[in-house]
Amino acid sequence: MPPTAGPPTRWAFGDQLGPHFLDDDGPVLLVESRRVFARRVFHRQKAHLVLSAMRHRAAELGDRCRYMRTGTYREALAEVEGPLQVVHPTSRAAVRLVMEIAGERGVERLPARGYVTSQQDFAAWAQGRGPQRLLMEDFYRGARRRTGILMDGADPAGGRWNFDADNREPPPRGRRTLGVPEPWWPQEDEIDEQVRADLDQWERDGDVRFLGHDGPRRFAATHDEARSALEHFVEHRLDAFGPHEDAVLAGDPWMAHSLLSAPMNLGLLDPVEVVEKVEEAYRTGEVSVASAEGFVRQVMGWRDYVWHLYWHLPETYREDNRLNARRRLPDWFAQLDADATEAACLRHTLGELRDHGWVHHIPRLMILGNYAAQRGWRPDELTSWFHRAFVDGYDWVMVPNVVGMSQHADGGVMATKPYVSGGAYINKMTDHCGGCRFDPTVRVGDDACPFTAGYWWYLDRNRERLDGNQRMGRSLGGLDRLRDLAALVAQEDRRGSDPP
Ligand SMILES: Cc1cc2nc3c(=O)[nH]c(=O)nc-3n(C[C@H](O)[C@H](O)[C@H](O)COP(=O)(O)OP(=O)(O)OC[C@H]3O[C@@H](n4cnc5c(N)ncnc54)[C@H](O)[C@@H]3O)c2cc1C
Ligand code: SF4
Repeated sequence: MPPTAGPPTRWAFGDQLGPHFLDDDGPVLLVESRRVFARRVFHRQKAHLVLSAMRHRAAELGDRCRYMRTGTYREALAEVEGPLQVVHPTSRAAVRLVMEIAGERGVERLPARGYVTSQQDFAAWAQGRGPQRLLMEDFYRGARRRTGILMDGADPAGGRWNFDADNREPPPRGRRTLGVPEPWWPQEDEIDEQVRADLDQWERDGDVRFLGHDGPRRFAATHDEARSALEHFVEHRLDAFGPHEDAVLAGDPWMAHSLLSAPMNLGLLDPVEVVEKVEEAYRTGEVSVASAEGFVRQVMGWRDYVWHLYWHLPETYREDNRLNARRRLPDWFAQLDADATEAACLRHTLGELRDHGWVHHIPRLMILGNYAAQRGWRPDELTSWFHRAFVDGYDWVMVPNVVGMSQHADGGVMATKPYVSGGAYINKMTDHCGGCRFDPTVRVGDDACPFTAGYWWYLDRNRERLDGNQRMGRSLGGLDRLRDLAALVAQEDRRGSDPP
């Protein structure tokens, strides 16, 4: 029964599910809004994961939780009497909704949770920088000093702040996999069975459409599962994380990655718990400092930095398009039609995404994002696509990662140079090129690698816009030495967004 007086009801969004969000033993409201799924075409496995996590949480909370299945949040809230509380939501749209509702009835808003650095500490740090750039490296070091994670007194553990130089190795040659134990996998239960049946039904009713294929649930949907995934990762896989974090092997989709972004972004797992566990493994000698630091850098460095930038940058940031990329996202790419292309790297990455709703950081950046930038696809459409196609995609994390890190559409707020590369770099960091019908060293003609040609096409198109960027000087200079540039540009103008 809904409370009419007494303690406030904690209205929790579907990405605020863990104990650190629901810590006061009071009543909880969870709203399963079908319209959220009807409005956008999400990956089938993402819809499954979110619903499974919400329903598992409701089952765990028992009588404490009122679980409402409605069309919209407003319909649900209209039925709940008494005071409401909300932890700061994770998107600007959700904050707007909360503010509107707060204007109509009492809603107590609590500070954000689920990040290592608080909004207050970030604001103080950003203010203290004055006109200096908000560099991730400086933010991260400040957070290490403040929390004491991987610190020996005033010094970083291992004597260095950054082990990237040890951690950027190409994939081991001649190997199909990294040879580390498989990730921890969850066991599906009757809640998953019901979720699957409901999604099938909604699809048959014509209420929703999905991207990608259904498949076994691969990501934690409860706090206990997330802890098991964390413990298994730290014990069996973390030590191999560092050296090969930037490498890709076609036969090993997971490499030594943690698969923890989904439970952290669902609010099931507190990143503080994650970095403390990693620190413990380093202190007891189970993992090297390079792997421990490389991983902690991702979680309390990159993840937190992206979260805070989302709120710090103006709302218009999401529409930035400084390189004037105007082409629409083509259907073959947007629909994850891996078979449409003969480019081995694209085919493989789109296939993995179709089958799992996840690929690791490097295929996101070096294959998908790089190709989109080279082809001049609209950053806003790409942001929406990433958000919908990935199990761990949420507005706060997609906007800076896609607009800033991957597309350089913000003119350099987040990254000092665009992340574009040709086939030679893909050939170095992956094992895709050996089996490809294109040749990474060729830029014009039938065998021309679409990434190698695309790289020069991109530079030629953006020459003036990137001219003032010192870090691009050498690449832009290289353009003038290409004797076949006119033929290359004509070739890529013809190819455009067609599948290579
Ligand atoms: C274009 C693009 C889109 C991305 N979209 C998302 C997204 O929707 N959701 C998401 O969580 N991450 C996103 N990332 C960041 C990163 O690719 C994923 O966090 C990571 O691949 C998730 O797998 P994992 O948990 O095995 O990560 P690991 O390699 O094990 O890394 C550990 C953790 O570090 C954090 N992390 C590392 N880099 C980032 C980053 N740039 N932004 C935020 N967190 C980071 C994640 O929480 C991750 O779980 C994106 C990166 C790019 C380039
Ligand atoms: S040759 Fe080019 S298209 Fe083929 S796998 Fe390598 S980078 Fe991708």
